[in-house]
Amino acid sequence: MLDDKNPTRTDLSELGEFALIDHLTRDFPILNKSTVVGIGDDAAVLDFGDAQTLITTDLLIEGVHFNLSYTPLKHLGYKAVMVNLSDIYAMNAIATQITVSLAVSNRFPLEALEELYEGIALACKIYGVDLVGGDTTSSNKGLLLSITAIGAAKKDKIVMRSGAKPNDLLVVTGDLGGAYMGLQVLERENEVFKVNPQNQPDLASYTYLVERQLKPEARKDIIELLEKLEVQPTSMIDISDGLSSEILHLCQNSDVGCNLYEDKIPLDPTVISACEEFRLDSTLVALSGGEDYELLFTIDQKEFLKIKGNPNLTVLGHITDKNEGTHLISRNNSKIPLTAQGWNAFT
Ligand code: ADP
Ligand code: MG
Repeated sequence: MLDDKNPTRTDLSELGEFALIDHLTRDFPILNKSTVVGIGDDAAVLDFGDAQTLITTDLLIEGVHFNLSYTPLKHLGYKAVMVNLSDIYAMNAIATQITVSLAVSNRFPLEALEELYEGIALACKIYGVDLVGGDTTSSNKGLLLSITAIGAAKKDKIVMRSGAKPNDLLVVTGDLGGAYMGLQVLERENEVFKVNPQNQPDLASYTYLVERQLKPEARKDIIELLEKLEVQPTSMIDISDGLSSEILHLCQNSDVGCNLYEDKIPLDPTVISACEEFRLDSTLVALSGGEDYELLFTIDQKEFLKIKGNPNLTVLGHITDKNEGTHLISRNNSKIPLTAQGWNAFT
């Protein structure tokens, strides 16, 4: 996997655990005032003053959550941080620290972990987050990566999944379906590669899609935008599993229903053309594709003028009474019940 590209291969056993941790974590300057003690003691010490603390964690397993035959380790490190930061932003909070825990088999040389930590370091730098700890151990097989993110927010700023009210507007950031179509492209190339390893894939026309899959960005910018616009969402969730499943979570937690308009779903033109190529329905891809790490939130209708025309934000529909159910209003104006997989094609 790495050896053909990278001639140096330093066995992890040459360093030992402590030298390895020191080596991997040497380029992580402390960026936040709230980090009192970082890496190196038995525990990190954090001080958020009068803000509330948020914490979220995620476990990624090779072969289940990622495939190293087409995921560069640097991208894996970056994405693993994004997945966690996205959960903090989805609470309308700012992420400040992470911890990183690793289990690695002896298949991985030092150079592989350096690549992984390059991605983690880049994410920390761009998003202003401190690496304050972790754990390092061996595994019998493959790579396991667990990241915990910590954030802070004033109590009255925190947004949960449970606050949506009937007549609130349903808003989504960015565009949807790109990460899923990027995965389709990568998996197709991976199959071609298995048959003919000499074949160099030409991914130029799929750059946006492949980036959405391999190098997603968490929407810290939206949390800052909402603050600037003085918009306080009534509920919020991040879209990791696809729009429909997240809408259903939000409606269930808020005890409401919704109408979502198919013609409002934001799609990048490259998603539309890739869907045509792969013979997939772009609405279904947006509804059930997942891994876009956009934010879905609701706002009171009174706030509409504050967000109107913002290119980052799309009003998809509105919240209804619970007894009206959760529906997609299709382009031809039929009302289709939403399911976690997108919609139920048999009703
Ligand atoms: P302990 O024996 O208390 O578990 P370790 O020797 O595992 O401590 O870790 C020493 C320090 O290095 C701690 O601050 C720990 O949080 C940090 N650390 C260990 N592994 C990693 C890692 N993979 N990435 C970042 N920090 C780590
Ligand atoms: Mg330890």
